[in-house]
Amino acid sequence: DIYGNERCNSRGINIHVAAHLDPLLNHLEQWATTRWEAAPVIRGEKRKDGERRDIHAPYDGAQQVGAVYWASETQAAEALDVAVEGFSTWRERPVEERAACLERYAGLMEANMEELMAICCREAGKTMQDGIDEVREAVDFCRYYALQGRARFGKAIALPGPTGESNELYMEGRGVFLCISPWNFPLAIFTGQIVAALVAGNAVIAKPAEQTSLVAYRAFELMLEAGFPPDVIQFLPGDGATIGGKLTPDPRIAGVAFTGSTQVAHLLNRTLAKREGAIVPLIAETGGQNAMIVDSSALPEQVVRDVIQSAFASAGQRCSALRVLYIQKDVADRMETLLAGAMQELSVGNPELHSTDVGPVIDEEARADLKAHLAELDGSARFVSQTPLKDGCHSGYFVPPSAYAISGINELKEEHFGPVLHIVRYTAEKLDDVIDEINAAGYGLTLGIHSRSESTAAYIERRVKVGNTYVNRNQIGAVVGVQPFGGRGLSGTGPKAGGPHYLLRFATERTRTINT
Ligand code: GLU
Repeated sequence: DIYGNERCNSRGINIHVAAHLDPLLNHLEQWATTRWEAAPVIRGEKRKDGERRDIHAPYDGAQQVGAVYWASETQAAEALDVAVEGFSTWRERPVEERAACLERYAGLMEANMEELMAICCREAGKTMQDGIDEVREAVDFCRYYALQGRARFGKAIALPGPTGESNELYMEGRGVFLCISPWNFPLAIFTGQIVAALVAGNAVIAKPAEQTSLVAYRAFELMLEAGFPPDVIQFLPGDGATIGGKLTPDPRIAGVAFTGSTQVAHLLNRTLAKREGAIVPLIAETGGQNAMIVDSSALPEQVVRDVIQSAFASAGQRCSALRVLYIQKDVADRMETLLAGAMQELSVGNPELHSTDVGPVIDEEARADLKAHLAELDGSARFVSQTPLKDGCHSGYFVPPSAYAISGINELKEEHFGPVLHIVRYTAEKLDDVIDEINAAGYGLTLGIHSRSESTAAYIERRVKVGNTYVNRNQIGAVVGVQPFGGRGLSGTGPKAGGPHYLLRFATERTRTINT
C-alpha cells in the first residue's frame, strides 16, 4: 500500500553497544587520512578542467579532506543538453526498472556506509551519530520512493466509462529536474531529491552545496554504479549563482527541487516566474524559526533532554531545530536551572570522537554570523547558560551551545543556523498571544509541545501553523515514511519529504480516453 505499512526503515548502527561500536571505529580508521576528489560529471565523464578548490575539515583547518573542481557555465549548458536527451529514453523505461536502480543504490550506500560516514564527518563536521543517521535516511528515501514509485507510476488508474469510452489516469515525469541540495544533509537530502525525481521518470541535474561536494560526488558515483544511465543524471558541483543562473532561466528545466535558505528560494521563484514558456513547479524546503511550548504540567527532566536534542544536536544546523523555547512562568526557574546544568555536560569538539555530542558549524561565515548574534544577545538579553569549549576547539569553526532569555520570537529578525537557544517566559493567560506571535513570525516548519494536558496540547497543535508538530518529545530527526517532513509559509512550498504524496510533485498527470 502507498503508506508502506509493510516496509522497514534502515536499522543503522547502535554506537552505545561496544560490539557494534568497535568494528565501526576500526572501519572509520581506514578513512581517517583519505583525500577525496569531486568534479563535474557529464554523460558519465569526470571533468577536471575547472577551477580547483581544496576542502578542509571544519573542525581542523590543517586537515585537508580533498579537492573539488567547480563546474563552469559552459559545462552547465552541456549537462542540460545531455539531460534533455537522457529524459527522452528514461521516461519510457518501466517504473520497475527505475525503482530497481533506487534499490541498488540504497544497497551500495549500505555497503559503503563507513566511507560515506567518514566523508560526512571530515567534510561537514558531522558527529558519528549524525553520520549514521545521514546514511540511514538516504537509504530510507531510496527504498521508500521505490515503493511509492511502483504504486503511483506502475499502472494507470481505470476510471468509470459511462459513455462507453475507456478512461484512464496515469502519471509521468516532467522533464529535466534541477536538484539543489543543502550542506546540512549532504547525503540524505541530496539523495532524496534526486531519487524522487528519477523514479518519477525525470532526468536530473544535481547541484550539491558548495561546502559538501565530496560526499555528494561519492554518492553520485554509486548512483552510476547502481545503473542510472549516464545521460539521465548529471553532476555539477560549484557556485550556486553560476550554475543556477545559467540553468533556471532555461525553459528546458521542467522543475526545481531546492532545500536551503528562504532568500534563495525566493530568488529561484522569481527567476522561474519570469521565464517565457511552460510554467513549472518549484519544490522548496527552507528555514524555520521553530518554537517549543512547555506548560507547567510538563515533566522537567524529559523537557530538558528533548530541548538539548532539539536545539543542539547537529550543532543546531537542522532546519527543524528548536530556536525559541516558551516556558510557562511558574516552572521557568526550575527548567532553566536544569537546562543550564545539562548544557554544562555536553561535549563539544572533534566529531571523529564518538564521545562528541556537538561538532563544529560548517564554515567561517556561519561561525561569524553566530558569533555576532551571540555578541548582540550579550548586550540585550539575559544569559542563561553556555557549554564550555575544550582546548582542542580553537582551530575549527566551533560555536558553544548557548541559551539566552529574550522577550519574544519577534526579537529575532532572521534565522541563526546554529546552537543558540532563545528562551521566553509566558503566563498561562497569555498562551493565545504566544501562539499569535509564533504564527506572525511567518515560518511554519516544526513545533514542539510539552504538556501532560491532552487538551492543551491539542489546542496549541490546531492553532500554530506548522508542517510538523511533536508532542512530549524532541522536534528533530523526522523518519522517512513515518514522519513526512516539510513546512509552509517562509519554510517552504510544503512538500512532505518521505511522505506518500512527495513523488506527485515531480510528476505530471495524464488522462487517456479511448472511444472503444
Ligand atoms: N528532516 C530533518 C529533521 O527532521 C531536517 C531537514 C533539514 O534540516 O533540512 O531533522
